[in-house]
Amino acid sequence: MLIDSHCHPDSDDFDADREQVLARAREAGVTELVAIGGGAEPGTLDVGLRLAEGRPGVWCTVGIHPHEAQRASAASYEEMRRLAAHPKVIAVGEIGLDYYYDHSPREAQRETFRRQIELAMELELPISIHCRDAWEDCMAELRHAGPRLRGVFHCFTGTPAQAEAAVGIGFYLSFSGMLTFPKAEAIRAAAQAAPAERILVETDSPYLAPVPYRGKRNEPAWVVAVAAKMGELRGWEAQEVAERTSANFRALFRRTVA
Ligand SMILES: [Zn+2]
Ligand SMILES: [Zn+2]
Repeated sequence: MLIDSHCHPDSDDFDADREQVLARAREAGVTELVAIGGGAEPGTLDVGLRLAEGRPGVWCTVGIHPHEAQRASAASYEEMRRLAAHPKVIAVGEIGLDYYYDHSPREAQRETFRRQIELAMELELPISIHCRDAWEDCMAELRHAGPRLRGVFHCFTGTPAQAEAAVGIGFYLSFSGMLTFPKAEAIRAAAQAAPAERILVETDSPYLAPVPYRGKRNEPAWVVAVAAKMGELRGWEAQEVAERTSANFRALFRRTVA
């Protein structure tokens, strides 16, 4: 039993074999996964929900990625509010700031991030944060929102000090296949130092395949390799990694608690 807390099974990369990919995850012991939302305009925001509906163990989010921030409108937030009423929607995400790619102007990114944080708080849902090369601005938005806001830094790539700051304001850290990359010493140090009750694992598939699959199309089954690395770093048996990260998942994403 492992949970892939962040993946994109709606991706075109899975068009040819999506059902087999989901079956392989189950066979690998990945009993649950979170299909992250996408899109921006009404009618495009339900990609995660379409996958989650009718599939046991598949949860989803709704959210406008920072890359798409400039496409957000009042109608987008209305549509998100409507979709989020569905019990399969467990979070608002992925939302945040990406100053590495700057696909949307930074002002639009900040505005869209803030609006979605407000929506998450109104809906009493946690958020899944995408933060790249924008640490200070991300933290400023979260601090501004205050302690009622809950969530996770997906694909955490920060330093141990940044991990401590994120945990300090109540957030969780989700580690991806980057944990297995040879040069990722800082991420491994953060994974070792973080409190056990704040750690999640994910694939972010189809991106970021872990070693030994690096460079290939990633898939949810391979969260097993991420969990194995986490176990190695923390001195936990496979069973303990699964139990701890699953318990953390339920503590954060309360809609997944039956
Ligand atoms: Zn992301
Ligand atoms: Zn993602």
